[in-house]
Amino acid sequence: MARLLRINTRTKKVTEDTLAGDYAGLGGRGLTSRIVRKEVPPTCHPLSAANKLIVAPGLLTGTTAANTGRLSVGGKSPLTGTIKESNAGGTFSQKLARLDIMGLVLEDKPDPDAAFQVIFISKNGVQLTEVPEISGLGTYDASTKLFEKFGSKVGIMVIGPAGENSRLASSIQFTDPKGNPSRAAGRGGLGALMGSKKIKAIVIDSQDAKAPEVADKEAFKAAAKRWAEILVSHPVTGQGLPSYGTSILINIINEAGTLPTKNFRDGRFDKAADISGEKMVELINQRKGVAKEGCHAGCVIQCSQKYCDENGQYLTSGFEYETVWAFGSNLLISNMDHIAHLDRLCDDLGLDTIETGTTVAMAMEAGVIPWGDGLAAIDLLKRIYDPKDYLGAIIGNGTAFTAEAFGVDRVPVVKKQSLPAYDPRAAKGVGVTYATTPMGADHTAGYAICQNILKVGGDIDPLGKQGNVEVSKNLQIATAAVDATGFCLFVAFAVLDTDDALDTIAKLISSRFGISFTADDIGKTGIEILKDEYSFNRDAGFTKAHDQLPDFFIQEELPPHKVKWDFTVDELQKAKVEI
Ligand code: SF4
Repeated sequence: MARLLRINTRTKKVTEDTLAGDYAGLGGRGLTSRIVRKEVPPTCHPLSAANKLIVAPGLLTGTTAANTGRLSVGGKSPLTGTIKESNAGGTFSQKLARLDIMGLVLEDKPDPDAAFQVIFISKNGVQLTEVPEISGLGTYDASTKLFEKFGSKVGIMVIGPAGENSRLASSIQFTDPKGNPSRAAGRGGLGALMGSKKIKAIVIDSQDAKAPEVADKEAFKAAAKRWAEILVSHPVTGQGLPSYGTSILINIINEAGTLPTKNFRDGRFDKAADISGEKMVELINQRKGVAKEGCHAGCVIQCSQKYCDENGQYLTSGFEYETVWAFGSNLLISNMDHIAHLDRLCDDLGLDTIETGTTVAMAMEAGVIPWGDGLAAIDLLKRIYDPKDYLGAIIGNGTAFTAEAFGVDRVPVVKKQSLPAYDPRAAKGVGVTYATTPMGADHTAGYAICQNILKVGGDIDPLGKQGNVEVSKNLQIATAAVDATGFCLFVAFAVLDTDDALDTIAKLISSRFGISFTADDIGKTGIEILKDEYSFNRDAGFTKAHDQLPDFFIQEELPPHKVKWDFTVDELQKAKVEI
């Protein structure tokens, strides 16, 4: 029976329900956004007792279907003030699902001077304990101590110093199968929301728990077999991502002229080869790291890796294209080791790498540190460990905040969340997504790079307007549905190119729950989720005027294609589902 656990972080009272009524049959982003819509006052302060942090595995998480171990984390975003769903890998989600916990809700808020606590969940129940020994620690040291205390088989969700101090760019980190807290619910400052509830970590032990019940085992097995075939036979999910990780995109996006360089001044970086996926794999192999591994059991794509330093010591993993861009071409840094150190620091501090990279760009714009200086960027981030360091406090609060602090006027944010690693002027489909998604600028909400650049699932001119609003809208609907299932978003490459992929997903859901779920129902699921999210944002005070890119994208031409952003606010509204 699907369980919904509620933990009052002030009284420590734990209550349990089954998923019923408005929440029946929901999972992942479908459940997090519905609970936020129903239970969080849209105009509340995101760090107030009225806000809630919701954690939800997907509908298929915990089963044997490939790439279904993702987790949705939701709440009202401290960074944007909008509704937020941030999606993470790691082992936590599958362990929750094995305990039949489809939703975990942190409510209320202790006094500001209360001690941080750890929540421990196992088949025997829920315990809250104070943990003075890990307060203030980075996520790596905190995880090590938690594994010592609770055993090596647990999954951990943990915040770093950034979240403890309610910094707006803070992430929530999750341990991977090797025990490294390198997987992140990065976007939207949800680490600050967890910190406001005085929860340092949630530890889950699912030993001896059975896999979730499957209603029609034979049908599920057949659909899961076909699903794995679809993923491993596609050139992107079967070859490209497993060979070079997501950083395979550096050379591709650079060649397309849409790799943001020096805070979105150019679409090409002359040192792109030095930070490419090919270069990363060369260094990994030289240093005896691991070029290919999964962030959770059952991933057949395996885009993650183990990246070692010059001495062959583990440095980081989950070292993604977005991170390499944010600290690489965006800052004119071409030293892969410096970028890897910055990634490690973000994971340890508990910071979103995209937001933090664009924040460092604001510091470079203001002359706080020089462009291209990786060591200065490392020193800048280290200041965030000290809660009393004022410069660290500014940087930890993200791009919009830092730009205001230093008087910078080229600020790449939508709804105060920074743009990711594709210049919207030369990839207009993803630009439409940045402007209109309920989440603030977010490429994963509708990844039109597929049709604009990679020519997967269609071929739409990235430099013109035609077709880009429609493709973004369709992708936003499909993505919301994918985020409800627990699938890793990278399955989309294969889904878009394979005729029976949607039917196969529908068969997985039908046979898992013993219901009749069709490919058409996938689209309906996405629309319902977006309706919840747009409704929340409307009631929080967001209007169509917030659905636009910053002015400099409209004013400045992007080299080499010499293109500007040219969608009006009214044209962009057509990318949103009606509420
Ligand atoms: S493809 Fe990458 S992000 Fe997706 S589940 Fe596998 S390792 Fe995690």
